[in-house]
Amino acid sequence: MPDFVGAVDQGTTSTRFMIFDHEGAEVAKYQLEHEQLLPRAGWVEHNPIEIWTRTAAVIQSTLQRTGLHDTDLAAVGVTNQRETTVVWNPRTGRPYYNAIVWQDTRTDRIAAALERDGRGQVIRDRTGLRPEAYFSGGKIQWILENVDGVREAAERGEAVFGTTDTWTLWNLTGGVNGGAHVTDVTNASRTMLMDLDTLDWDDELLSFFGVPRAMLPRILPSADPSGYGVTFPYGPFGGQVPIAAALGDQQAATVGQVCFAPGEAKNTYGTGNFLLLNTGTDRVRSESGLLTTVAYKFGDQPAVFALEGSIAVTGSAVQWLRDQLHVITSAAQSETLARQVRDNGGIYFVPAFSGLFAPYWRADARGAIVGLSRFNTDAHLARATLEAICYQSRDVVEAMQEDSGVILDVLKVDGGVTANDLCMQLQSDILGVPVSRPTVAETTALGAAYAAGLAVGYWRDTDELRTHWAEDRRWRPEWSEEQREQGYAGWKKAVGKAFGWSE
Ligand code: ADP
Repeated sequence: MPDFVGAVDQGTTSTRFMIFDHEGAEVAKYQLEHEQLLPRAGWVEHNPIEIWTRTAAVIQSTLQRTGLHDTDLAAVGVTNQRETTVVWNPRTGRPYYNAIVWQDTRTDRIAAALERDGRGQVIRDRTGLRPEAYFSGGKIQWILENVDGVREAAERGEAVFGTTDTWTLWNLTGGVNGGAHVTDVTNASRTMLMDLDTLDWDDELLSFFGVPRAMLPRILPSADPSGYGVTFPYGPFGGQVPIAAALGDQQAATVGQVCFAPGEAKNTYGTGNFLLLNTGTDRVRSESGLLTTVAYKFGDQPAVFALEGSIAVTGSAVQWLRDQLHVITSAAQSETLARQVRDNGGIYFVPAFSGLFAPYWRADARGAIVGLSRFNTDAHLARATLEAICYQSRDVVEAMQEDSGVILDVLKVDGGVTANDLCMQLQSDILGVPVSRPTVAETTALGAAYAAGLAVGYWRDTDELRTHWAEDRRWRPEWSEEQREQGYAGWKKAVGKAFGWSE
């Protein structure tokens, strides 16, 4: 058995390739950002060709820098930004349109129409989701309706759909030279097209969006020793490495944080925030604005489900301070700036750039900064931005506790924003529970590597993976109960001000 396992993490802001050893420790990592295309208010796109060239580049570079080869890898797993929709021609490899990113709100009207005539309820019951612009179904429909010739091409088998796992897997396995057109259950569970009971595409759901079945990839278990095939020998790996797993990024992070038992949860802080609670083989229906989703399915074992609280804008609000307002020059500087003041100076920032996701689900919401007085500075704004990340997380933690009855005694965190110590301290203060960050912060890539390694027998079982998890740092609440409740009441009031800005 080769010594290492690899993971491709095709994220929203960047794509990285990582190599892990048998103890789950990071051996190598390299990443490249790709461009965020913002052609109109509410629209967010990526160039799929750029994504693939960067993916190939990070793999090649990592192997070159470490002197490792395809033969050193027992398997690779793929993880990805979820819901982001690509439609391409499998004969030429050319996309028909840019990738429509999960945060894009152009399909709000498609989603609203589903809600008006009862189809919304079918979507809720069958997919565990809600009719929202967030998920892929409406994005595919938009491409079919707005890009010339795609519908005809789809009917001829010359236009296929994939989320970015599928696009990456197709390219990794040879692309126009016979690439595999596949996805995994976790990614398929984010389209509004898959039935959570059968774990297969559903004809009635397809008819809601006018999506021909021929466009859709084959759905595989998240860990599968043979289904995904091997890497194309003339591709970036330069040889045939078994691809043994694929999972959406949030599900991968759940695996990377070893949340294998019902009641175990993690919160990932990236572009957005995603809290997932393992509910075992039971599908728990949310009454509080959470989603039901597949957490993972390893081989022939039954699928494991999760309740999910999805927040659209957290780390990307920090990016907005950097790229649009220019009040900071790096994401990390948000911490130094926010530390210049003792508190938020009375201001709250609700970063509802894509409407508000869980638990509010208000497509009509837009960003709001409230409570301003002349005394406020950019430092207060930075602090309010970090607090917004934490208050939004408190909203979903409360919803999760209502739905599941599980009371968190500690919150396991990961993702880019958790490098911000102040933000993690604020999270503990705002929640009133300790916050714990593991030694491997890259839990998304680690989870994909774990799933791939399990599939090929590199790791024995999930108990073995549990022994790798170790705490790096823990933050404990320092605010008084009164301070916490006052702060949260202010946040709730601010959220109310964000509603109703978009039809
Ligand atoms: P994704 O997987 O969604 O691409 P990452 O986990 O790589 O996200 O995290 C990137 C996000 O984290 C960016 O939105 C960035 O603004 C934010 N970020 C990174 N470092 C910091 C920091 N020190 N403080 C606050 N935010 C940060």
